[in-house]
Amino acid sequence: MLTGEEALSFLKKEMKSHPSLAFLDGAGMSTASGIPDFRGQTGISRVASRYGLSYERLLSIDELNEDPATFFDFYWNFLVHDKAEPNAAHRAVASYEGPIRVITQNIDGLHQKAGSKDVVELHGSILRNHCLSCESAYSLDEIPHRGIPRCPKCGGIVRPDIVLYGEELDYEALSDAEEILEESDVLIVAGTSLRVYPAAGLIYSSRAKAKILVNAEPTPLNSFFDAFVQGDVASILPEVLK
Ligand code: NAD
Repeated sequence: MLTGEEALSFLKKEMKSHPSLAFLDGAGMSTASGIPDFRGQTGISRVASRYGLSYERLLSIDELNEDPATFFDFYWNFLVHDKAEPNAAHRAVASYEGPIRVITQNIDGLHQKAGSKDVVELHGSILRNHCLSCESAYSLDEIPHRGIPRCPKCGGIVRPDIVLYGEELDYEALSDAEEILEESDVLIVAGTSLRVYPAAGLIYSSRAKAKILVNAEPTPLNSFFDAFVQGDVASILPEVLK
């Protein structure tokens, strides 16, 4: 596996011919937009301990069902950043001149806000919500951003359409992601610790001739890649995606 300057040169060379690109990312993609990741240097895992619970528990279907007040307190305070704007990394992805298909673990909607059209949201989106009782759908703007949101029609709890710990991923999203990975010439994985499954395991569906990881720190799956470019996605991606 290439690292350092060699890895960056490899990535630049691969991108020169504008190959079809599968771009798989995670929370590190949005830290430059002011949204903390989970496991990075200033991640949410540290604040979760204030609740005396792990963030896996705080963001689980069991927590939502058994203690919705705590679930939503954590959710509104640490997961929802409705003023966040796309950063240079999102904009670089959106303006790439070759064919690009995005697979994101993020729930913040920033790829679409930057202009990306082809985005598979593996873990759903905070922008979509629905009532647990009558299933009415609500956008983020239509519900109060504090406390337990209640459905104006039936009084049921309105939950975000995100995949919580203890829930399965959407079958269609997973199979779309697999198809993208099988069909693309180059795979870039960016801003993810590759510790959350089944998302992380998706990389093994890739048939790309070049597989490149761009991340602030090494991941447990580094040996899978041809090159590891270590650093900030918001400075590296604009430099290589033209
Ligand atoms: P993670 O927190 O486990 O890992 C993020 C990785 O990105 C870390 O390795 C970190 O070092 C790296 N990183 C942080 N900032 C970076 C930067 N500017 N440039 C390059 N690398 C950077 O996140 P994950 O792997 O996505 O898994 C966490 C889960 O949490 C995901 O399923 C996701 O749905 C959810 N999450 C989403 C958001 C969001 O939507 N923005 C935010 C937090 C968590």
